[in-house]
This record gives sequence, structure tokens and C-alpha cells, in this order.
Amino acid sequence: MTAYREASRLFLLLLSFVFFGEVAIMLVLPYLGLPNRFAEALADPMILTLILFPALYFLVFKRLVVKNVALEQAEQQLLAAQSELEDKVAARTREITEAKQTLENSLAMLRDRQREVVILGDMSKMFQASRSFEEISHVAEHQLGRLFPDTSGALYVMRASRNLLERMMTWGDPDGFAASFAPDECWAVRCGRPHFFSDNDNALACEHVSKGNDRGHLCLPITAHGETLGALCLQKIGVTETGAIEPPSADRLEFYATVTENLALTIANQRLHETLRHQALRDPLTGLFNRRYLLEILSREIERARSLVQKIGVVMIDIDHFKRFNDQFGHNAGDTLLAALGDLLYKRVRPTDIVARYGGEEFVIVLIDTEDDLAVSRVDIVREEVATLAVQHKGATLGRITISAGIAVFPTDGENAETLIEAADRVLYEAKRSGRNRVEWYRRKKAETVLTNDVQPQGEVPSEVVGI
Ligand code: GH3
Ligand code: MG
Ligand code: MG
Repeated sequence: MTAYREASRLFLLLLSFVFFGEVAIMLVLPYLGLPNRFAEALADPMILTLILFPALYFLVFKRLVVKNVALEQAEQQLLAAQSELEDKVAARTREITEAKQTLENSLAMLRDRQREVVILGDMSKMFQASRSFEEISHVAEHQLGRLFPDTSGALYVMRASRNLLERMMTWGDPDGFAASFAPDECWAVRCGRPHFFSDNDNALACEHVSKGNDRGHLCLPITAHGETLGALCLQKIGVTETGAIEPPSADRLEFYATVTENLALTIANQRLHETLRHQALRDPLTGLFNRRYLLEILSREIERARSLVQKIGVVMIDIDHFKRFNDQFGHNAGDTLLAALGDLLYKRVRPTDIVARYGGEEFVIVLIDTEDDLAVSRVDIVREEVATLAVQHKGATLGRITISAGIAVFPTDGENAETLIEAADRVLYEAKRSGRNRVEWYRRKKAETVLTNDVQPQGEVPSEVVGI
């Protein structure tokens, strides 16, 4: 419409200019003394102008202007449509870029999940093949580090006494995770479900993680059949680009649950395996190795000593007149005495030596890397200590006992487990025969006499022994 108004104004200006020009000429003409026919000649165009110009205006010019205006409007509409189209294209391009980004993110996440599933499978297989907690710890350290590469963490295992969780291994660079903690120091263990803490909100931090630089942690209980077997604690999880720490999503929590289920199964299996092994190797009354395991381990130690050119002392020990002890104090008191004696023998040897309950009231000690005389004197010191052993049973002190012992040394007194035990047993018999409460060494006894085979031991029982 603006162009239309402009054009109209221009036309009227032109019309006025022509009209007033002609009037001016007509007024000036009489003064110029020009003949009248000039004025007449001018009157006609003037009238013509007055008629023609409006006619021109309405018939042609206005139509042209109207068309021009329509054209201008169409052009503006076109421009508006073009701009709208451009906006739409830009919005669509943005949407497609965003969708592409989302798709790329989903693909990356899918690849991550796939990688995690493969590692989880590897870890599971390696756990199944592990034979000890030490091996499990190595596998966990390696695989958990691979599974959660951007995090740090620690794996805790509950003690058999159930009063403490001990740190089994760590990965990454955990900050402030205690070496051990009581079950009520961890919210996850207490409540039996994942516990997330971050310094963004007012959540409660677990007591076993020292405040220090800890900006956030996630503790996951490891449970099987309702029993807490341990805890998996992670740090540096959910850190966003802005540095804030976000709680794990439901999907992540589900994945963590799969990992802890795997760990729970592994710990439970290993516990069972160790319990069964303990039951198979140990004597339940004294907790010492049993006869079967002694023979197995002695053969191994002999082979080791042979290659290292070392000596091994095999000591066979038997309680003197234990039958009478049982008769006087009862079988239960006898059991208490056997357990106390086992404990004393175990405490008097080096960690590398072996103590086993060979049978009823018979014990065997294997002294690794020993010397002949040293073995004899060490056993003699133990014999003296046993004679002073005061054992409590049901509030009363039981009578004293004595022991007799026979020693055979590898390789001089026997070449293998069987011959060594036989030799030690034979001199034990000599110790009994010679009066009990004594230590005899096979080689020395052999040098002194010919070993007796079939005579029953005689010796008298000392009056202070077994309370007689
Ligand atoms: P010696 O000095 O000749 O060895 O006499 P002893 O009475 O010790 O010998 P013997 O072999 O005749 O008796 C061993 C006794 O040990 C018989 C049995 O009642 C007792 N005994 C064996 N095993 C156990 C056990 O597990 N608990 C208890 N309380 N007694 C046991
Ligand atoms: Mg006996
Ligand atoms: Mg005996």
C-alpha cells in the first residue's frame, strides 16, 4: 500500500504542475503582447489535461499501480514463505543432528554394554577356575579394573566371625577406603541395598570411607541367600562434564547387581570349598592336620628336602597311660586334654613345621630343615612342658600327663614317609619300654641296642601323673 500512495502522490504532483504551468502561461501571455490565438491554443490542452489526466489516472495508471501493489504483496508473501521454509529446514536439520547424536550415543552405550558383558563373562569363567581367595582377589583386581575403567573401588569380604569386613583388593586409585570395617559402618550392608553418597546433596556418607577428598561413593552389598558375604564399593562414578556427581540410573544399578551376584556366588563357592577342604584335611577335635593329609604332605616335604639336601625330623608322640586318664576324669575331660595338647604342640613349632593328630592320643610333628641333635633337644623341651600342662575342664584342673616320643630323621633313618614313620614308631615303643616320659632317637637307639620288636612296654606310672 505504501507504493500505491507514493505513486498517487507523484501523479497528483505531476498533474498540478502541468495544470498550474498552463494557468501561469495563460496569465503571463496578455502581458507579453502575444496574439490571442496563443491563449486559445493553450486553453485546449489545458482542458484536455483536466479531462485526460484523471481519465489516464483511473483507466491506466491506477490499474498499473494496483497491479504493482499486488506484485509487491506477492513478493512479500513469497519472501515470508521462503523465510518460513528456511526456518523449517533449519529446525529439521537441528532435529536430524540431534537424532544422529542420540543414535551415536546409543551406539556407543551399546558397544560399552557389549564390552561389559564380555568382561563379565571372562570374569565369571576365571572366578570358577580360581582355587583360593588369593586367586579370586587377583582375578577381581584385573577384571573389575577393566569393567569399570573410569572408577576406583574396593572389594570387601565378610569374616567367618561375621563381625568385620576386610578389604580383599582395590583397583584404580580409591581415596579413603578403610582396610576393614564393622558391618554397621556401611549403609549398604546395614540396609541390604545399594547406598549412594555424593557431596551434591545431603545424603549420608558411609563411616568406612574417610571424608578427606571423597566427593561421592556407591556401596553395593554382596549377598547370597539373605546372608551378607561382602561389599563392593565404587568411587568416581557418575561424574558429569560440569563436575557434578549424579546417582546411578536404574539400568546401571541393575548391571551392578549382576556383578555383585557374580561375586556373591564366587565367595560362597570358595567358602564352601574351603570348609570341605578343611573338613577333609583337619581333625575336628584339635584342628590339626589329620593322618591322611599328613602322609600326603610328608611325602611332598621329603621330595623337597631331597632336592634341597635338607634334613627332616619325624616325631611320633603318644600320651602315657591315657586310658587311665580317661577312666579317672571321663572321656570328655580326655577330649579337652587332647585339644589342649594339640594346641601346645602347634604353638611350640615353627610355622614351616607340621603338626598332625595321627590317631587317638598319638600326634606327629614334622620338623622341616632340622639337625639331628637340635630335633631331639627341641622335642625334649616340649616333653618337659607337657608334664607341667594344667588343663581346666568344667571349672576344675585336670591331672597332669606325660608323653613319650620317638624321632626318625630323613634321610639317614628312612627314605620315605612310610619308613620314617615306622622308624619313629619303633623308638616310641622303646621310649615306652624304657619307662615313658622320654624322647628316643632312632639312630642313637639303634647304635646302643638292637631294637625290640614284640615286647609290650612295662614302665611304672609316676605317681604325680594322671592324678594318681
Ligand atoms: P600307653 O602309655 O601305653 O600309651 O598307655 P595308654 O593307656 O595311653 O595306651 P592305649 O593305647 O592302651 O590307650 C589309648 C587310649 O586313648 C584309649 C582310648 O580310650 C583313649 N583315646 C583314644 N582316642 C581318644 C579320644 O579321641 N578321646 C579320648 N578322650 N580318649 C581317646
Ligand atoms: Mg596309643
Ligand atoms: Mg598312650
